[in-house]
Formats: sequence, C-alpha cells, structure tokens
Amino acid sequence: MLRLAEKMSRLGTETAFDVLARADVLARGGQDIINLGIGQPDFKTPEHIVEAAVKALHDGHHGYTPSPGIPQLRESVAQDLAKRRGAKVSADRIVIVPGGKVTMFFAILMFGEPGAEILYPNPGFPIYQSVIEFTGAKAVPIRLLEENDFSFDADTILSQITENTRLLILNSPANPTGGAVPRTEMDRLVSGLTQKHPNVAILSDEIYSRITYDDREHVSLLSYPELDDRLILLDGWSKTYAMTGWRMGYAVWPEALVEGATRLAVNCHSCVNSAAQYAGIAALEGPQDAVDGMVSAFDERRRVIVAGLNSLPGVSCRTPIGAFYVFPNIRKTGLTARVLQDRLLEEVGVATVAGTSFGALGEGYIRFSYANSVENIEIALDRAAELLRAV
Ligand code: PLP
Repeated sequence: MLRLAEKMSRLGTETAFDVLARADVLARGGQDIINLGIGQPDFKTPEHIVEAAVKALHDGHHGYTPSPGIPQLRESVAQDLAKRRGAKVSADRIVIVPGGKVTMFFAILMFGEPGAEILYPNPGFPIYQSVIEFTGAKAVPIRLLEENDFSFDADTILSQITENTRLLILNSPANPTGGAVPRTEMDRLVSGLTQKHPNVAILSDEIYSRITYDDREHVSLLSYPELDDRLILLDGWSKTYAMTGWRMGYAVWPEALVEGATRLAVNCHSCVNSAAQYAGIAALEGPQDAVDGMVSAFDERRRVIVAGLNSLPGVSCRTPIGAFYVFPNIRKTGLTARVLQDRLLEEVGVATVAGTSFGALGEGYIRFSYANSVENIEIALDRAAELLRAV
C-alpha cells in the first residue's frame, strides 16, 4: 500500500481538460463535436514567432538558460510593460516561466500554509482554489456576481481581509466570466489596501490583458506604483499570441521575492525551453497585427454568441468585456450546470464547461469559449436550441 502525502487529496483540477479528453474520445468515435470548451485561441502562432524559434534552434540555442530567463527576453518584457502599461519595471524583477500557471503555483506556494488565508475569485480559474487548498491554507472566495457584470466590489473584498490574510488573488479580464474590473473600483481597492492592509500580497492574473472589447482599457495593477513591493503580476504569451502549447509565461515579482521565485524555478523546471524564449522576444518586439486581428475576430464572435444565447429558451447572457468566454445564466432551463454540460456534449456534440468547474458559486452558469469560428458557433447554438426546446 503506497502512502501518499495527505495534501494530494486536496489537490483539485481543471475540468476543461477532462471535457477536452471526453470530446476527443467522442470525435475519434466518429461524432461531430464542436469544441467551445477549452480556453485557447483557435489561431496559429504568427509565422514570424515560429520562425524565431526555428532560427534559435538552428543557431544552437539548445542548452539550459539562466533560470529566470535569458536577459534579452526579460529586457523585452520590461520594455513591453513600459510601452503598453506605462510601468517602469526593472528586467531583474521579471521571471520567465513555462506558462502563466507556474507563476500562480509559485505565488500560492510562497504564501500558503495552514493558518493562512488566501482570497480568490469564485467563480474563477479553478487552479487558484486547488493550489490554495493543497498548501493547507484556507481558500476564501470573493463572490463575483452576474448583477455586477462579474466585477468585484472593493468594499466586500476589504471586509474579507483578516489578520491571517496573506495573499489576494485578482483576475481581470476574467476566466470564466469575461468580466473586467473598472478603474474606479480598482482605485477604491488599492486605496483600502494601502491604508489598512499593508501586509497583504497581491497576485494579479492579467493573462487576458490584451483581449478587451469596446475600447475598454485594461486596468493593470502595475499602474499603481504604491503596490510595487507586494504585487506579483502574472501574464504571458499563451492567449495573446496563440501560444498555449509553447508554455511561455512571465511574472513581475516584488524585488524581495525575486530570489524566492527563482529558487522555486531552479527546484522545479530549471529554465524555460530555450528556443521558445527567442520566440517570446519575436512576439513582443515584432508586428502586432496578428494580435489585433485575433481580438477583432473574437469581438465578432462575441456578438454572435451573446445574441444567440439570449435567444435560447431558459438562457440569459451578459455581454463580456474581455477574454474569450461567455458565462450565461442557465437556471431557467431547470437543469444543473453539470447536467447541461454533459447533455450538450453527449446528445448534441457541443463541448462546454459547467460553471461549477470554476467553484461552487458557478452553479446556474455554463462557460462557452468563443475561440471557434462564427460558423461553428452558429451550428453549436442551433444544436443547443434543439436540445433546450426538448427539455
Ligand atoms: N490564468 C487564467 C485566468 C487562465 O484562464 C489561464 C489559462 O486558461 C491561465 C492563467 C494559464 O495560462 P497558461 O496556459 O499560460 O499557463
């Protein structure tokens, strides 16, 4: 009998990967599946980025790199942050990691332990709660409400902070809701944190920073220099440049935490794939028209899916502000999120993810990713209508 560590029983998962696996099995069995489940752009990585990786391999970049990343890439990230977010960040504070998730894992490991409390968005990216509980810390949900367009209320967050709170996790634009926090609310939160809670660290997950609509500005926590000594900013290449499989992410760490983050990287993965890091430079410094093209394609799909969902029996859907997800309310269908997710997949071949996969507060909602063609989205909507009319 193997004796696993008790904490393994507290590690959760990301159900989107289970749905993807089930959808693949059905597709291989000949069923026509439209995948609106997994959260990744359906575009290819732009050619000049691929070319940079190929060139790096031909140029002999086959070995280990410094653990926090090659200096040129860290410098390139610093310049990108200066250009896009007006933030002055030294390259020494940037740590390159294999995907945005790794920053999340490291930040939560650094602060989580029994007795500690960590606030996280719910419904939210499932890995926050999973890793918080893995560390033995208490996971304290920040409720994100539909009537608030899934943004947060600063006063509520501030009132949830106790003397045991070590870390506050924020995600805007958000997965799974597409909600984004307006500047006025962020100002109020930052002012409360500054005045009353100087010892709480913040992990700001801004992986969807470049994907916003209707000219909504992305409000980055990097634009509040008063948080510099406790802000961990998570971003990366996966969503912006259609590079989910390259495993490329970065974080800006407070100066005092860079050494710890680097030590975690040395213990965990040594460094990120060398050629991928050169591709990362090409992505940040090269033409950005592919990014703009993807965002306008997502925007068109967003309009199609929101209108279509609102015409389905029992479904109502707010218009998301960022990312490439919609999170319609399905309560009036009379089905639970999990049952509707399963029936959509098994009966009409549409993969989605139940809201409960993003926390208990996701009951009554389903996540559709609209990183798929307008044509497929329209077929999926027709199929969903057919299923719901028969419920
Ligand atoms: N943060 C959020 C909110 C996400 O939705 C995702 C991926 O879906 C990640 C982080 C992880 O990104 P990566 O694929 O770069 O690890």
